[in-house]
This record gives sequence, C-alpha cells and structure tokens, in this order.
Amino acid sequence: MVIVVDSCAESEVKSTTGKIAGFDFGLKTFLTCSDETLIESPQFLKQSLNAIKKASKNHSEKLKGSNNRERARKNLVRQHEDVSHRRCDWFWKLAHKLTDQFDILCFETLNLKGMQRLWGRKISDLAFGEFLQILEWVAKKKGKQVVYIEQWYPSSKTCFNCGHILEDLHLSVREWRCPSCQSINGRDENAAKNIQAVGASTVGLGDVRRAGARNCCLTPESPPF
Ligand SMILES: [Zn+2]
Repeated sequence: MVIVVDSCAESEVKSTTGKIAGFDFGLKTFLTCSDETLIESPQFLKQSLNAIKKASKNHSEKLKGSNNRERARKNLVRQHEDVSHRRCDWFWKLAHKLTDQFDILCFETLNLKGMQRLWGRKISDLAFGEFLQILEWVAKKKGKQVVYIEQWYPSSKTCFNCGHILEDLHLSVREWRCPSCQSINGRDENAAKNIQAVGASTVGLGDVRRAGARNCCLTPESPPF
C-alpha cells in the first residue's frame, strides 16, 4: 500500500458533515454506531486465520533443519503477512469511510489488557488498537476529531433514555429493560449512544451534565503503518 502524506499542517476540526457519532467495539460486530448502523467483522479475517493455523501445523510437522521445514516456514510467514495486509487495508478503508461520514468520532478509551482477560485471544485478532491508530491518523489529515471518553464511564449500564444506571450487567446480556423508564436497550446501541452523548459534551456540543470525560486528540508524527 502506498500512502501519500501532505505536509503536516495543524487545522481546526472541519465541520463538513455537521455530524458527531459514538462507537462501541465488539467481537462479532466490529463497531456499533450511535446512528444504529453496524459494521460487521469481515469474514475474510476468519478465513485467513484458518490458513495460518494450517500453515503453522504443517510447519511444526516437518523435520527440523530440512528443506521442507524451511519451505513451510516461508509459507507460514507469507500467511501471516497476508492476514496483516488485508486487515490493515480494511482498517484504512473503514477509517476513510467513517471520517467522510462524521466530523467528530467518539470512542471509549480501550483497556486492551482487561478486554483480553474477558474475551480471550480473539481480541488481538480484531486489533481495535491498531484500527484506532489508523483512524486517528486519517482523522488528523482530514481535519476531523477522535474523542475518547474515560473507560470507567458505564456506557453499557447507563440507560440512554433516562440515565438510570444498572448495578450490574453481565457480558452475555444483549438487551435489557430499564427498571426506571421501561425502555428496551440493545446493549451495544445503548452504549454507542451514551459514548456519543459524553463525547459531545466534552467538545462542548451536548449536554454538559454528562461530562466526566476526557478529550484526548492524539497527534501522530508519522503514519502508524
Ligand atoms: Zn431508562
């Protein structure tokens, strides 16, 4: 992939779309947007990971020091590079799509170690952190803004409709009824809407009562990948 980079000039956030959105990361659905659109994790990643598994098994079965083993090693490296390229390519395209659609993009600060503990190794395959680095880079180039809200903000447990906060919400619960206002909240959609509202308040666009978030606009010096 060839990346052409213009000279780096600081710019104000360009309000070309007038839109702000919140996003919630997930395993099956990669991103849930506050406008209720879903961005599914691409199937090709899963397929390429299966190819890696096969190549890895093939490599370990060959006799150490043999030509066959060397060939299998090269094949394994190639499979790894293939997955990484395809994922990266998908991330760049998605970053461009989202920054064309929105001016301000709000996310929760990722706690990758915590997520890894909860969800297992899948999380590293999805590489949310890698995507955010690319998104920040693209956003900066286009004069758009990426806003992070504190990871302790209970985006999933807070009812977007009335502000009621649940004491507990198990990871397996995909939908819940608010005990205060009776509204039915889809877990990810509700979280994305809360993230948008908190993000909006930190940049002075929304309800300041939801403040308690942090605006952290990174300014990468060079392209992340
Ligand atoms: Zn409610």
